This record gives sequence, structure tokens and C-alpha cells, in this order.
Amino acid sequence: MLLKLTTLPGDGIGPEVVDQAVRVVEEVARAFGHQLSITRKPIGGAALVASKNPLPDDTLQACLSSSAVLLGAVGGPSFDSFPAHLRPESGLLRLRRELGVFANLRPAVCLPALEDCSPLRPEVARGTNILIVRELLGGIYFGQPRQTEGPAGNRSAVDTMRYSEPEIERIAHVGFELARSRRRKVTSVDKANVLDCSRLWRDVVTRVAQQYPDIKLSHMYVDSAAMALVAHPAEFDVLLTENMFGDILSDQAGGIMGSLGMLASASIGGSVGLYEPVHGSAPDIAGRGVANPLGAILSVAMLLRHSFKLEREAACIESAVSEVLAAGNRTRDLVTPGQPALSTSQMGEKVAEAVAQRARVDRGKVAI
Ligand code: NAD
Repeated sequence: MLLKLTTLPGDGIGPEVVDQAVRVVEEVARAFGHQLSITRKPIGGAALVASKNPLPDDTLQACLSSSAVLLGAVGGPSFDSFPAHLRPESGLLRLRRELGVFANLRPAVCLPALEDCSPLRPEVARGTNILIVRELLGGIYFGQPRQTEGPAGNRSAVDTMRYSEPEIERIAHVGFELARSRRRKVTSVDKANVLDCSRLWRDVVTRVAQQYPDIKLSHMYVDSAAMALVAHPAEFDVLLTENMFGDILSDQAGGIMGSLGMLASASIGGSVGLYEPVHGSAPDIAGRGVANPLGAILSVAMLLRHSFKLEREAACIESAVSEVLAAGNRTRDLVTPGQPALSTSQMGEKVAEAVAQRARVDRGKVAI
């Protein structure tokens, strides 16, 4: 298969982790006999510096004409004083909109080798395997009007939360479909005791659920969900929710896993899928070669699964990551005191080697 990708390394540690993710996808292509075509383009602060535009047309066109996009991270302290439309983050928000990616998938999986990294007791974190399905293009982050008005000292501000039935329906279908390949449980999270948007959300999700009689649906208020996520995270399977609640709960679920550097994400549902690690540009460690590349590498696994339906290749990367961690390899964010740490590129190399080895074993099985 031809894997036509655009990479957007971005700012800070973005280029460092994307380099390792590319190294792994190159190994996958070699091992499984795929053809790889990669176009690298600027976004965020890197693009602002080069062209005064956080999402240059050339970058957008490259993304739209590829089969999937892999992004590193955008942002940095030198851009914090820029006006909103010239911030690196505005380039990323526009890219999501232009690609039409309304479904953001964020897995939070507690790997056995990393149980000790969780701030929760190992017996609470153990077995956690949640897929957060977050609506990405609606709700309070996009609703109009949004403005601040009035004289200094007496200003007021308004944001608008708005959802339509079709917007809720399409994300609900994504959640139920994905639950079919998992443990067949969907927890829909809202604030239906207070918000009209949430009452509509609950109503529509309940209606869509009738088309999925094999899936067990339950509803939870967002405050209860926040508590349940730390009290008994292993009970969740698919957690389906709107934009802002999903933004907050997915970081919380990620926190349970111990390091932001481990977390991957996929944004799908539009013409081209967008895949990125959950972390930001980490200016505090950028350029030092110590960032954890596994979130970016696991995002490549999601890319192969969702954009190319290459389940065997995706599973190969995920198994390789588990195996490398089980063998005791750690980047700086995962070590316990006294434990040696691998650099970003050493960790990438370990995973690439494990992918090559697993693929050889797979081929051996096919030959037999
Ligand atoms: P951050 O995720 O960049 O960093 C938070 C902390 O986690 C830091 O201590 C950092 O060193 C650590 N960390 C993050 N990724 C790591 C990795 N792969 N390996 C090891 N440690 C890692 O969040 P922040 O500091 O709040 O934001 C920094 C910049 O990134 C800001 O400009 C922000 O706007 C931007 N940001 C971008 C995205 C994105 O591109 N999607 C997401 C979040 C934040």
C-alpha cells in the first residue's frame, strides 16, 4: 500500500518526537512491504517565523492532498504575547476545522510495565484501558457570540455553548462503532442536570444507542465522571463526551497514566485524519534530546489503524512499545531515582528494532 503522509513537526520537542515516529513508520513500511511518501511542512511558531502565518497555504494544501497527517506540537513562550489569530495554536485549530476532523480519540491505557508511574495506587490503575471519544469541532470552543466588552474594571465576557442534533449524532455513531471493537460499553458524559446542550446531548445519544443494541450505554454527569476516573478508572471502556468536557477529562485520564509523553491521539471523521501526541511543545526540555517519543510513536499506530485500516501494523507498533518498556527501557520522564534514562533517539531506535523483530516473527508464522 502507498502510505502518503504529511508531517508537521512544529515547535519545541515536536521535531524531536516526530523524527522518531518517522523512523518507526519507515521500519513498518520496510517490514510489511508498504511504499512510504512523506512531505514535511511547517506549522505553528516555526511557520510564523518563516511566513507570518501559523498555517501557510502550502502546508494546508499538502495536508489536504495526503492520506494522513502526523503533527508534533505547536507553541512556545516567545509567541505568548502575539494576538490570538497569530498564535501558533490558531494554526492547529484552523487545520482541524479545514480537515473536518470532528472526532478526537484519546486512549488512556495503563501498561503493566508502567503501573508504578501512575499517581494512583497500582491496584487502582491496573487494567485501565479507556478510549475517550471527544467531539472536536463544536460546543463552547466554537459557539458564537464570543466576546469581551465594557470599560476596564467593569468588563464582561461571553462564550456560547451550542450543539445541533446532527453534530451530536455523528460523534455518537463514532463512539458506538468503536465500542464494538472493544468491551462494548459506552459512558456518555454530560451535565444534563444544568445545561440545555447536555439535555439535547443525552436525548440524541440515547436515540442513537437504539441502533446499537449490542452496546451497553450509561450516562454520567461530568463531575461524577471526574471522580470515577480517579476512583475506579478500570471500569470505563468508551467515554463519549462533548468538546470542553472531553478536553478536561482526557488530560485527567492521561494524568492517571503517569506521563504526558506516553499519550497518543487521533482526530478523524473528515477528509484526512490528523494524528498527534497529546503533549505540547515542552519548551522546558526542548533541544536536549530527552523528550519521550512514545506518544508520537503510538500516534503512528493510530494513524495506520484509522487512516489505512492496517490493524496488524498498528498492533505491531503497540506490542513493540510494550515490549521495550517491559525490558526496562525508560526516557527521563518515566525513570525512578537511580534508574538510567534513554535519550529520545535511543528510545526511537529501540522501538524500531522491536518492530523489525516482531515483523520477522510474523512473516515466519505466515510462511509456516
Ligand atoms: P506541555 O505538554 O508542553 O508540557 C507539560 C510538562 O510535561 C512539561 O514539564 C514538559 O517537559 C512535560 N512533557 C511534555 N511532553 C513530554 C514528553 N514527550 N516527554 C517528556 N516530558 C514531556 O504543556 P505546557 O508546558 O502547558 O505547554 C507548552 C506549550 O505547548 C504552550 O505553548 C502550549 O500552548 C503548547 N501546547 C501545544 C499543544 C499541541 O500542539 N497540541 C498541546 C498542549 C500545549
